[in-house]
Amino acid sequence: MAKDNVDLICDISELAGLFEKSHSLSDFLQSAVSIVAYHMRSAVCSIYLYDEHTSLLTLAATQGLSPDAVGKVTLGLGEGIVGTAMKELRPICEGHGTESPNYKKIEGIHEENYEAFLAVPILLRGVMRVGVLVTQDPQPDYFHQNDVKALRAIASQLAVVIENAKLLMSLHEAEAKLSSPEPEPQSETPAFLKGVTASSGIVKGTAVVLDGHGYDVLTAPADDDAEEYSLDDFTLALQESIHQLTELQNKMEERLGDVASLIFNAHLLILKDDGFSGEMTRLIEQGTPADRAVTSVVNDYINLFSKSSNPRLQEKVLDVKDLGHRLLRNLQQHGEDQGDYAGQILVAKELLPSDVLKFAAQNVEGIVIVQGGITSHISILASSLRVPMVFVEYASVLDLDDGTLILIDANQGTLFLNPSPSVLSQYDTLMNREEAERKAVSPETFTRDGTKITLLSNVNLLSDIEAANENQAEGIGLYRSEFPFIVRDEFPSEEAQKLIYSKIFARMPEREVTLRTLDVGGDKKLPYHQHLDEANPFLGLRAIRFSLQNLPIFKQQLRAMLRSGADRPLRIMFPFISSVDDFESARDVVEECIKELNAENIPHNPNPEIGLMVELPAAVEIIDELSASADFLSIGTNDLIQYLLAVDRTNESVSNMYVCHHPAVLRAVYRIVNSAINNDVDVSVCGDMALNEEMLKFLVGIGIRKISIDPNQIPRIQSFLANLHTEEARRHARKLLRFGTLREVDAFLLETEQQLTTPQL
Ligand code: PEP
Ligand code: MG
Repeated sequence: MAKDNVDLICDISELAGLFEKSHSLSDFLQSAVSIVAYHMRSAVCSIYLYDEHTSLLTLAATQGLSPDAVGKVTLGLGEGIVGTAMKELRPICEGHGTESPNYKKIEGIHEENYEAFLAVPILLRGVMRVGVLVTQDPQPDYFHQNDVKALRAIASQLAVVIENAKLLMSLHEAEAKLSSPEPEPQSETPAFLKGVTASSGIVKGTAVVLDGHGYDVLTAPADDDAEEYSLDDFTLALQESIHQLTELQNKMEERLGDVASLIFNAHLLILKDDGFSGEMTRLIEQGTPADRAVTSVVNDYINLFSKSSNPRLQEKVLDVKDLGHRLLRNLQQHGEDQGDYAGQILVAKELLPSDVLKFAAQNVEGIVIVQGGITSHISILASSLRVPMVFVEYASVLDLDDGTLILIDANQGTLFLNPSPSVLSQYDTLMNREEAERKAVSPETFTRDGTKITLLSNVNLLSDIEAANENQAEGIGLYRSEFPFIVRDEFPSEEAQKLIYSKIFARMPEREVTLRTLDVGGDKKLPYHQHLDEANPFLGLRAIRFSLQNLPIFKQQLRAMLRSGADRPLRIMFPFISSVDDFESARDVVEECIKELNAENIPHNPNPEIGLMVELPAAVEIIDELSASADFLSIGTNDLIQYLLAVDRTNESVSNMYVCHHPAVLRAVYRIVNSAINNDVDVSVCGDMALNEEMLKFLVGIGIRKISIDPNQIPRIQSFLANLHTEEARRHARKLLRFGTLREVDAFLLETEQQLTTPQL
């Protein structure tokens, strides 16, 4: 019977489901080896697991070798073919295993009966040792290059499931220890958690666990010296806190004037309030030690605010708690630090956009959201502020002790608790490599055969322009104008908007800038606007629909854009266009604004280019008409995927169905690009699909020559493109467009991805 590698890869991609059905890790591994042996038609399949503490590999499951050997056979790094594959992080395929210089005879398992030997390391992120997957067969030269590829694909799937399984086991062990009557010393087991990326980046720091809006109380930090703080100490700590917050406020105005004006105002107001600091003073005068007075008043406020029916007051709970932390730190450390979060990773249940700003301003290294929802503006804010953020489901992360070392790999959406020295050093290597890529970035991007690809930056906050310039973006392909609206307490005026847009132009001189009009609705709600109570906000009054129904707001924005682009080429783009009619109505409003500004003699750009985002299935159906009407098109794949596949992009429970390589998405994007090319209209991609290397290869293959991406990703994307040949990309795209099922696309991508990501050692 022939081997069926494709089926094998597809079955294995459902391993996660298989794990849920298994009773234990060994059960799961046993099922995995049976599946692999069956599809490979091999006599033996085994899995060895690697223990980084002992540097030993142990046989954990086998089909074909003696079951008694499980748990007993161990190999060191470099020992035998299996140990060598693990040591050298490379697959080893031997036609005659017993003749290999690496072969080592292990007594009692009768391995010598199986001449053909294929050992593939199971690696997390291509570098971290998890174990080795082995197949063996009595027929010499039984395994070929295709088998190596298939096994590599399987090994990378296994790596994630095995690490998750180990984590779950360590969590169960921790729970069992907690409930056991005999208190045991705390486990130092390194744990690995898989979560979801909200803002990319790699960072490490010590945990500081907040309860988000869980309304826990503030506890006075344990103080070994049990020092009693006096009224003088408190007065000094209060002054220091006011000084620090005023400084922070000034710094934020300078750095993030578009969204962050007065974000620490509430902090300062509360701090100076007589009911707050005044009450603390009175308690201290009556004999309460200062730290207790602080916690007692802070907790009264937390209680009060959390019970309020006013959501705006409830939101202040975190401000009050944050203030309490600052006062206590200043009390104990007498201003030795700046009361900020440098070196710390914040763990919280839920954060508001303004919270993200505040913690970023206070130099937090990274953020972990536990079980709460991540709205798109939270994650966009975090990435603009360059704060790595992941979302995890494990509630027990909230029980971590403050000070626990955490490493966030938000590029992969993973979290390491108490990472081992070897994990830390592997990440150091990775970070150094990324740093080198950043330094090597150049102002223009070409493929290997010299085709120019324009790399533009997506900008959400003014602070992104710093990153765009550092990474040599050739312009701004998407400015998401809603952020100044979301973070404020009221609609920003025409003048306030003009100021922000002018800053964008000033910071991006002589380069292309595309300003997108307001995209609110969906999950981006304005806190001060009475949005309709919609059962399906993503299908409701969103983006251009909101603007067309709120003409005064729309016109204010368009006037601000036209005025700020007075002496520059200006590109205005409408989001969420579903018909030529909507596009023309919106363009008419621009014409109206130009007439008004003319009549008022106000300097403005009289001739902006007007484009639209293709992000709805309806737009794909009428793409020829849209291409003929618009000055430019930008493909918003984030929404296009959501609406084509009917998968809410913010809903975790269906996130596995949100796939950019679905045949429907590939064909739709191809249709758009084809139509744009035929109509000779400028087309770019501004959604995150362009960040996925396989998809980028596809996009280049169908003719995309301009993309707009997170500016921090430019170095990686540039170096990927430099190694890509457009002919290879064309072949890749042609193949992908032929597949009608996800299963075929998955299998094809798994194979090519392996070639891309497995380090060539
Ligand atoms: C998109 O939908 O792809 C896009 C870039 O817009 P946003 O993510 O702001 O909806
Ligand atoms: Mg969109």
